[in-house]
Amino acid sequence: MKRAYNFNAGPSCIPLDVLREAQQEFLDFKNTGMSIIEMSHRSSEYNTLHQETKDLLRKLMEIPANYDILFIQGGGSTQFLMTAANFFTKSRAAYINTGVWAKKAMAEANFFGEAYEAASSADRNHCYIPETYNIKPNTSYLHITSNNTIYGTEFQKFPQVNVPLICDMSSDILSRRINVADFDLIYAGAQKNLGPAGVVIVVIKKDFLATANQNLPTMMKYRTFADNDSLYNTPPVFCIYMINKTLHWLEKMGGISAIEHNNIAKSQIIYNTIDNSDGFYIGHSEKAYRSKMNITFNLAEKELEKDFINKAKAAGFVGVGGHRLVGGCRASAYNAVSIESCQALANFMDEYRKLC
Ligand SMILES: *Cc1c(COP(=O)(O)O)cnc(C)c1O
Repeated sequence: MKRAYNFNAGPSCIPLDVLREAQQEFLDFKNTGMSIIEMSHRSSEYNTLHQETKDLLRKLMEIPANYDILFIQGGGSTQFLMTAANFFTKSRAAYINTGVWAKKAMAEANFFGEAYEAASSADRNHCYIPETYNIKPNTSYLHITSNNTIYGTEFQKFPQVNVPLICDMSSDILSRRINVADFDLIYAGAQKNLGPAGVVIVVIKKDFLATANQNLPTMMKYRTFADNDSLYNTPPVFCIYMINKTLHWLEKMGGISAIEHNNIAKSQIIYNTIDNSDGFYIGHSEKAYRSKMNITFNLAEKELEKDFINKAKAAGFVGVGGHRLVGGCRASAYNAVSIESCQALANFMDEYRKLC
């Protein structure tokens, strides 16, 4: 079996050990004579897994006891509307527009009141993270996107504001240390750093949850998930099972500090290749805001990009084409992508440059 060098932006690379384990126990989970996806979500076997997954996440991210952990379906995109539906409690909500996902989140909030840009990086094609914000009176919360998957920029420090802070961490959760207490609500779709698509992890401060709008349909309320331990209805059992395995893997790797260290080294290998290419490759993000997860770049000779992506593909590198909306090139080096894969891509980039 030859595994690809997987630089997909999402769904993306999952640790081989995790895939192997899932394969091994797929037909018979814990001597039950059935797979995890064939058993009741009310069974004691599943319940143990459910609780352990939350405990592991709490431990790895050092989530304080006054925060709930929820599993919700509908992807990051449903969180755009859920955050607004629950927490648009005043006339306005603030958004920092750092790119496509931030803008989509803001568009959903506009259904519930005046969603405005507290800051934007649109003036320079989202190659940086704004550091000053304009928060208007009657603002319910500030929403940010910690890592901009498409443009390859990442908040290095988070806004300090006197309104609740909501953060979409879909593409950098568990990739670096963060202080959970700096946030009122964090959400992240699983398919970048955690497991398969189909579940979102929500970490929410209990005091903040208590302020949520209650006059909402059942499945739109965070309270429904919090009050029922995310078991009001059938949870996405297989996704949570895979997250459980990924969290165990992360723990074995040495936890978040170790993985962060690794992620810095991985991204540096590729950024160095870009920076030492005599202008052949041009990084999209300003250096101070570079993402460790999504490395975005262009070729100075635009016409070569298609050829570069094709040759990379032929050499076994998957997913190095940029997002369909912005083009260019992008290497997503999530937690599960190995340093060897990054080195191999860097070597390929050097060789390609020398051939041109
Ligand atoms: C991928 C992504 C999303 C969208 O997630 P879906 O699960 O496809 O709805 C939202 N925000 C960010 C930052 C992402 O990277």
